Amino acid sequence: MTERVGTEPSVFTRILRGEIPSEIVLQTDDVFVIRDIAPQAPVHLLVIPKTDEHPDVVALAERDPRLLAEMVEVARVAATQAGATDFRLIFNTGPGAGQTVFHVHAHVLANPGTGLDEATMAGGMPDGEEA
Ligand code: 5GP
Repeated sequence: MTERVGTEPSVFTRILRGEIPSEIVLQTDDVFVIRDIAPQAPVHLLVIPKTDEHPDVVALAERDPRLLAEMVEVARVAATQAGATDFRLIFNTGPGAGQTVFHVHAHVLANPGTGLDEATMAGGMPDGEEA
């Protein structure tokens, strides 16, 4: 299902409000982290700004680069917390790239332990994304 930012709160805003169950594994004042409901790797986290005003990473980078930098740092901490030293950070941007939720979010994909395994490197991408 695809959703657009509009009058309806995004699925991530609804999770933040507690309207949809999902454990928040890490948060700061401005960013929170949940596990993806359909994981594509042993570690698959979503790093999400608490504001839903930015639909994708291009808009976020233009409007609030500080928040984008905070998302990257939170991704690093969340991956470390999950036991991953290395990780992939993916922003699906636009429906053609597989973006389905238009509340900017970063996918953190990793394997606990050392870096990523070859299977993940070869194809464990979120739906619609090609390396
Ligand atoms: P996108 O396709 O927009 O890049 O990523 C959206 C992600 O949100 C998908 O990987 C999807 O599995 C995840 N997702 C959608 N709904 C929920 C939900 O209710 N809970 C959680 N934890 N993840 C969700």
